[in-house]
Amino acid sequence: MPEGHTIHAAARDQMRDLGGAPVAVTSPQGRSADTAAELDGLVLRRIDAHGKHLLYRFAPATEGRVRKADQRTLHVHLGLFGKFFRQASPPRDPTGQKRLRMVGEAWTIDLSGATICELLPPPVEAKLLARLGPDPLRRDGDPALFLAALSRRKISIAEALMDQSVVAGIGNVYRAEALHAERMHPHRAANSLSEDEGLALWVRMQAQLKQGLGDGMIVTIPDAPRTSAARRRIPRAKGKCVYKRVRCYTCGGPVSSEPLAGRTLWWCPHDQPV
Ligand SMILES: [Zn+2]
Repeated sequence: MPEGHTIHAAARDQMRDLGGAPVAVTSPQGRSADTAAELDGLVLRRIDAHGKHLLYRFAPATEGRVRKADQRTLHVHLGLFGKFFRQASPPRDPTGQKRLRMVGEAWTIDLSGATICELLPPPVEAKLLARLGPDPLRRDGDPALFLAALSRRKISIAEALMDQSVVAGIGNVYRAEALHAERMHPHRAANSLSEDEGLALWVRMQAQLKQGLGDGMIVTIPDAPRTSAARRRIPRAKGKCVYKRVRCYTCGGPVSSEPLAGRTLWWCPHDQPV
């Protein structure tokens, strides 16, 4: 599943490709036909990323202020299989199951396989945002809310990091890599972390996510090459210290793994003692 940095990158890049101008919106596969019809021809004004959720803000083209009632928000959550495809406009005929197609003057973005692709009325958006924890990549991401959420949970820190109401945008890779970088055993109870430990973990996740957003890929090994071109030559799993590794990048010892809530948890018993 894409982690927060991928979602923030999509918001940034698609705003650059489509923002500030009318967008022709269709649903080639038909499943989001009603949604597409509501948005077709509106101007894309902003894209907000909250954790793994994308909120596209559309409104009619106008010189003056846009009335609230005329604004539309498209909610997209990629889930495990959702994907964006980008091509120059005018686009080729859609192939496969494309749920949504957004055609701008210069670029076209297709969406397939998403778990959520629907209009989001303001009351429903308020509920969605209320149940999402702080996002370390957002300027308004508040670490105090993260610390408070940890202190209320007896579950392991590994489970807590995947709970989007504790912190939004962390997935399996950053969970493993941030805990390893902080030398923290994943089974520790979330509410056993001191405030300093919790804050250090937040700062670490934020730094790793920002790095991923800048690089367009997750590389968490400390002495990785500095250019993104050189980083791309690092084999996929090798960009990480413990995630999907047999041996820990840092100490060379064997990496432990176990299933946890349907995903695999990875950690280094040497660097992250109980
Ligand atoms: Zn190690």
